[in-house]
Amino acid sequence: MELHQLTNNVYYFQSSVNIGYIRFSEREGMLIDAGLESQTMKKVLRKLDENDLPLTHLFITHAHADHYGGADHLQKNRKVFTMAPSFESAILAEPMLEPLYLFHGTNPMAEWRNKFLEGKPVQVDMVLTEEGEVELGDTKFTTIALPGHSYHQFGVIINDILFASDAYFGKDIIHKHGIPYIVDAQLTIETLEKIKKLPCSGAVPGHGSYEADFIATIEENIMVHHQVEAMLRDLISIEKAGIPFEQLVAKACLARKITIRNVPSYMLFRTAVTAYLTKLMKEQKVSFQVKDNQLMVESSFE
Ligand SMILES: [Zn+2]
Repeated sequence: MELHQLTNNVYYFQSSVNIGYIRFSEREGMLIDAGLESQTMKKVLRKLDENDLPLTHLFITHAHADHYGGADHLQKNRKVFTMAPSFESAILAEPMLEPLYLFHGTNPMAEWRNKFLEGKPVQVDMVLTEEGEVELGDTKFTTIALPGHSYHQFGVIINDILFASDAYFGKDIIHKHGIPYIVDAQLTIETLEKIKKLPCSGAVPGHGSYEADFIATIEENIMVHHQVEAMLRDLISIEKAGIPFEQLVAKACLARKITIRNVPSYMLFRTAVTAYLTKLMKEQKVSFQVKDNQLMVESSFE
């Protein structure tokens, strides 16, 4: 894990999941996200201490365990004021909600409640319902709503630098994912268009590297989303009688060269495929039907 300094007071810890850091004054500093687990947070705290960087606040962008799993260790060892967007805060308070929603509300099996899907609960001191300015003593920053990857994900803007969380991924990473995890394809694309218009001098994604010129990466992300959407439309339109939903997930993963290796991972891809389908449904291009007690996806045009 490497600590990169972006401006006088803005830094990020680069790792498989990036963690932002802002030094607001000699006394106040804030982490943006907390990494996957205690081990990650221990390294972060060591680096901050070595560099004499204060830590008084924590901002959690969205309730995915790889972004908040380290918060429990932090809250048990330091006094931090924690902020998170609404809805995401509900999951941070009751992290079992994630395996619960991925498994259609069924009380999840113990092995489905792994550290990638469920971290320890996070105490949130301030729930943010709307994007905008946040001011608490020396701690001043702007939040921006970036929904799509997660229901109510917020990014942070400070000194013209955007901490975009998982609104977009580094180029290599989005291609590696094949079908990126999203909960709403329409919001995902609207969020990417919103980021393109921001007057920012650089951006840090949740996974990937800081880039001063990040527009090409945003365009690449948009292209991937359009490709996945078009691929799904093709797979559906060639099946005149419709395609069983589970078969569509299998064919979509095959088309994107994805080999799903475990049950929780299957549920993540299934959610993402559904998120592209709901966009196509709103555009009246496809529909869900139930036939012979099977969930079918059908093309809506002749
Ligand atoms: Zn995420």
